[in-house]
Amino acid sequence: MASLKPVIVIGGLASTGSTTFAKKLTTALDLEYFYAGRIMRQLCVEFGLCTKEVAFSSEFNKFYKQFGRRLLEDDQFNKKVDERVLDLIRNATTPSAAEGRVTAALVTKAGIEVVIKVWIKADMADRVKRFRTKNPTFSGSDADIQELLLTRDRLERQQYLKQYDVDLFKPQEYNDIILDTTGLNLEQAYFKLIDNELFRERIKLLIPFYPNYDVVYRWKCLRCGYLYEGFVPVHICPRCGNIDEKQFQDL
Ligand SMILES: [Zn+2]
Repeated sequence: MASLKPVIVIGGLASTGSTTFAKKLTTALDLEYFYAGRIMRQLCVEFGLCTKEVAFSSEFNKFYKQFGRRLLEDDQFNKKVDERVLDLIRNATTPSAAEGRVTAALVTKAGIEVVIKVWIKADMADRVKRFRTKNPTFSGSDADIQELLLTRDRLERQQYLKQYDVDLFKPQEYNDIILDTTGLNLEQAYFKLIDNELFRERIKLLIPFYPNYDVVYRWKCLRCGYLYEGFVPVHICPRCGNIDEKQFQDL
């Protein structure tokens, strides 16, 4: 497993909650976080499309509204964003999360081995709700939001089919886990994932990649009784893969 990259890949269609989900994992497991959105901002600066001040402030949303569609249709630009994400994954040496619509597919195609690839799924009614939460000032109806999301799905699907021969509507071809979060809040969806057997098996692979901190941690896994003493700063049970904060007792 010398070539394994210590990366968890998270993906999902727009407004499925994949970003929030990735952030949750990032905090829980003390991960570095690579996401296409940030890289896109960086590249906008590098391409001279906007200033650094605009790219990394709320001004960027205005900029994106104006030029986003053109960027989305610019194959060269998109390719650069995707390549940059892949490079970050290839060079990752510490536990990390990478989030992007097409990341899992590209990682698979490039033959890069990662810890696990998780696709977040939600039905349309839930996506509409999540869109509304994220865009509280949007004044359109639910039907408008649905139309917007469907259009976006279609456009993105076409784009990735053309560019990479990747079908966003077949995430099972590129992901290890398809996590259906329909009807679940973030917390519930998170627990559904960390209860997944494959996830618990694979998450153990992250352990050796944590840098040796000075502090020694001692805890008991309440799920399987494992006693840990070592330098890994997060709770991951090497025996059962438990990462549920509530199922550990610090000693
Ligand atoms: Zn355990």
